[in-house]
Amino acid sequence: MNKGFQLSQVAVEKLVARFGSPLLVLSLDQVKKNYEVLRKHLPRAKVHYAIKANPHPEILRLMSKLGSCFDVASDGEIKTLYDMGVDGSRLIYANPVKTHVGLLACSDCGVHRMTFDSVTEIGKIQAVCPGATVLLRLRVDNSSAHVDLNSKFGASREDALNLMLQAKEAGLDMAGIAFHVGSQTVVADPYLQALDISRELFAEAKEVGLDLHILDIGGGMPIPEQKVKFNLPEMLKQISARLDEDFPDAEIWCEPGRFICGTAVNLITSVIGVTKRGGMPWYFLDEGLYGTFSGVLFDQWDFQLLSFKKGVKKIVATFAGPSCDSLDVMFRGSMTATLEMGDKLLVPACGAYTSASATNFNGFSKAKIIVWEDMKARINADINSGK
Ligand SMILES: *Cc1c(COP(=O)(O)O)cnc(C)c1O
Repeated sequence: MNKGFQLSQVAVEKLVARFGSPLLVLSLDQVKKNYEVLRKHLPRAKVHYAIKANPHPEILRLMSKLGSCFDVASDGEIKTLYDMGVDGSRLIYANPVKTHVGLLACSDCGVHRMTFDSVTEIGKIQAVCPGATVLLRLRVDNSSAHVDLNSKFGASREDALNLMLQAKEAGLDMAGIAFHVGSQTVVADPYLQALDISRELFAEAKEVGLDLHILDIGGGMPIPEQKVKFNLPEMLKQISARLDEDFPDAEIWCEPGRFICGTAVNLITSVIGVTKRGGMPWYFLDEGLYGTFSGVLFDQWDFQLLSFKKGVKKIVATFAGPSCDSLDVMFRGSMTATLEMGDKLLVPACGAYTSASATNFNGFSKAKIIVWEDMKARINADINSGK
């Protein structure tokens, strides 16, 4: 499978010489490719990019240009897109528990599509956005998900029909069902199970006079991961086939986050300290848990560190970040080549849930982000001229 954007060793050297370290390098071509792969294998699903995964303005601009819609969860995300000129009709406010300022932002920016999963939400929506088009967020059980969102969100199968009836009664435009099987789901089964329940609910709703016509299958589509095997085209084919069979007339939406941006960013980070503790080498990097590697904590992601040292014996080491907090240790007992001061590490697939949750803790700046396609020609010219 296509592993996504990955810089060469020379490109890494040239980029650090120009921009310093740490550095995040974003490939917009890869974002576009990812969008097109999803369009190809899930042709009926209208993509709503979940911008929390990576809200970099260049990604948002490109996705908007490509015709994507957006999944937003807060007033800040709504306003970001509004200020970029994205029409509110292209947004879904997919946070089942909304803030008052979030609803006000919907009202101000023309966002009229949202999800809910409880009675309290119905009154809140109707008060600020009367007649909004709503989808019931359904809970689906998927203990195999990399990050399971269903312990926090979603109405139970038993409560679903009643909630939908109450939404309609309150004056909302009760239009469909949404679910999220959990992030980085590598098999079709959880989607198919959620589709089974949705199909039953569509039928039950029809019997009581509710016309459901939108099905939002959420995000969760996977990117290549160390030690995990899956077949993306096959997985999406199974989902597509089931959509055709059971929802031939419904409008289908999806909300990919990680899939769009995950493989489009590389982190370059440098070794700034080397020591030994209890016989084990410790490498301190100029990027840590409070920065791009926040994904270790928030996303439980197993990042791959490439040292460009080929054919050397691997050792076990610990990798720590630059801050003065003892929590700031990213990887313990990782296999790595022996490293030295100043060595550069390349971390591919660093685009989702990384810079988005980075902080300035302890006074460290967030890693600079550059767009590869803006620099590519110049860097390649440097390489070719031997500079
Ligand atoms: C986070 C989130 C997504 C994106 O999930 P990925 O696993 O990154 O695809 C989509 N929809 C909702 C409602 C979310 O909360």
